Amino acid sequence: MTLNRKVTLLFVALATSILVALVIISLYAFRSFALTSSTAHVKTAAEIVRVHLTESMINGTIGKREQFLERLMEVQGLSMARVIRSPLVSKQFGEGLQREMVADRIEAQVLRDGQPRFSIIDEIGEPVFRGTIPYIASSRGTPNCLQCHQVNEGDVLGAVTIELLLSGLRKHAMTSVVSIIITVAVFSLLAIVGARRLMLPVGDTATEIGEVVQRALKGQFKARVTQRTTDDIGLIAAHVNRLLGYLEQGLASIVERVAQLTGRMPSGIDNQLEATIDMVNSLADAATFKITIEEDETKAEIYDRFGRLLTERFGLLEYSFYETLDNGHLQVIAVDGENGHGCLWCDPQILVRGERCRARRAGHMVDGLTQEHICTAFVPDAKGGEVRRHYCVPIIQSGVVGAVVQLVTPATTAACLALQVPYILMFIREMAPVLEAKRLTETLRESSLQDAMTGLHNRRFLEEYVETLVATAKRHQTGLAILLLDLDYFKMVNDTHGHDAGDAVLKSIAELLKQNVRASDLVIRFGGEEFLILLPDTDGAAALKVAEKIRSAVEQYKFRIAGGELKKTISVGVALFPEDSETFWQTLKYADVALYRAKDEGRNRVLRFAPAMWQDENGGY
Ligand code: GH3
Ligand code: MG
Ligand code: MG
Repeated sequence: MTLNRKVTLLFVALATSILVALVIISLYAFRSFALTSSTAHVKTAAEIVRVHLTESMINGTIGKREQFLERLMEVQGLSMARVIRSPLVSKQFGEGLQREMVADRIEAQVLRDGQPRFSIIDEIGEPVFRGTIPYIASSRGTPNCLQCHQVNEGDVLGAVTIELLLSGLRKHAMTSVVSIIITVAVFSLLAIVGARRLMLPVGDTATEIGEVVQRALKGQFKARVTQRTTDDIGLIAAHVNRLLGYLEQGLASIVERVAQLTGRMPSGIDNQLEATIDMVNSLADAATFKITIEEDETKAEIYDRFGRLLTERFGLLEYSFYETLDNGHLQVIAVDGENGHGCLWCDPQILVRGERCRARRAGHMVDGLTQEHICTAFVPDAKGGEVRRHYCVPIIQSGVVGAVVQLVTPATTAACLALQVPYILMFIREMAPVLEAKRLTETLRESSLQDAMTGLHNRRFLEEYVETLVATAKRHQTGLAILLLDLDYFKMVNDTHGHDAGDAVLKSIAELLKQNVRASDLVIRFGGEEFLILLPDTDGAAALKVAEKIRSAVEQYKFRIAGGELKKTISVGVALFPEDSETFWQTLKYADVALYRAKDEGRNRVLRFAPAMWQDENGGY
């Protein structure tokens, strides 16, 4: 029920109650007044009758008492007057007239106990006040009753019954009550109309405030409350409008900022407030995610964490991560949470022809959720079962597509994934710069461990890697062969053909060395034209064989330099860890000793370290 209706009802109820109370009070007051005044009238009339009867007795005209009573009837309002003789008087003076006999029970009682009795009776629709008043014998008055009557003091001599018509009074009473009713009704009506006029703006404003608050709860702050008055209610409406305006502006700017951060505006049908809260929460989670992955050591860890996030938070079990290599090829990082997997959800051709991947080629999202077959490289039935849909997100790093995240879902849940995409993108957006930073760090790290000219590992790499190398050799209980190589008379190349020619020879040597060892062997540029080759799981004989193969290959190789070709030779020192020494660095030193011995012995040769060489080096020991 509205406030207005309640107020109206309250006023109507109040007015009715007042009206009823007033009518009851008026009727009661009139009745009391009628009784009191009628009693007084009846007593007065009774006294007049008594005085007249007494006078008649004294004057001897008592026989004409009937005429007197009839004349008395002419008094307005008096309808009946009758005198009753008590048994005592009848006994002394005889029975009297027929009309003077006791007529009813009331008169008999009055004669018996000497108490007056009054009552209102209804005679054929006419209200009548009736009083029966006793005449008591008394010796104190004038004349003395006991002089004529042979009765005792206080005996009842008789009574008079007088009836007064009340219709006149009742008419007055009814007129007054009707006037009261009309007056109260008119005032009540005026009061109700006035109250409604006062309360109407209150009720209407309250209803409107209720409506705008309901809308605000749905995130819509556009509605306003009509300001109907300039009083307190008008002020409340103005304040509510100001609050709504403030919230609307605040929400709009938050939505805009969030949209800038997320790249997505909440759609019109969304509850803007809830959608924004949702997005802000996701942004906060994405920021936390960023802080976490920043502390991860490698890109692999980051991809792993992101994969877990897709599964645990978004319930996505199928996805692929690809990275672009320097040569433009794509490399599979992980598929469905497994690393080292081949291409599953895409044609493997994308690995060698990066442009085949639409996201990689276009550099923007590829929405296969709403546009089926948008990318021909996607394999929707790779796992059989239900056909899949995909959504691919390129990750831009240093201005190019550095990686591609592919989200895969069964066609039936494509719409569900589409709703999650904006949230997943928030995480990808946070992840992209961190991946880029890690990629740069890893590249930098690789370059610091690599010799720029030849592309071989450098001495720093050896220093970092040696521990792992030694641990592996010990665990496998196999030998690690160390080959230290130095070009013979290399200085001459520089001196004769120039430094560039020297560089070209060094690059060719590096290639030559790599070609003559296994993939598991390590070729290191140890110094200017000094190289170190580490051969895991290799014994002395095998090591010598490899060294000899290299020496021979170098000897036969024709190095191309500007203006022709030239031939060079190389000397090699060979030592074995842990056969020659229990420490790696000592074994390396022994290889160096062997190399110098090879130089000493005429160069272009391979020499296996022997303890005797060390003794010679150190003064015969
Ligand atoms: P040998 O080893 O047979 O005793 O004679 P060598 O002439 O090779 O003597 P040494 O090993 O002492 O000389 C090394 C020379 O290699 C010195 C330096 O000019 C040259 N060299 C070192 N690094 C580079 C480089 O990066 N580029 C070029 N062009 N030359 C280099
Ligand atoms: Mg040298
Ligand atoms: Mg040399």
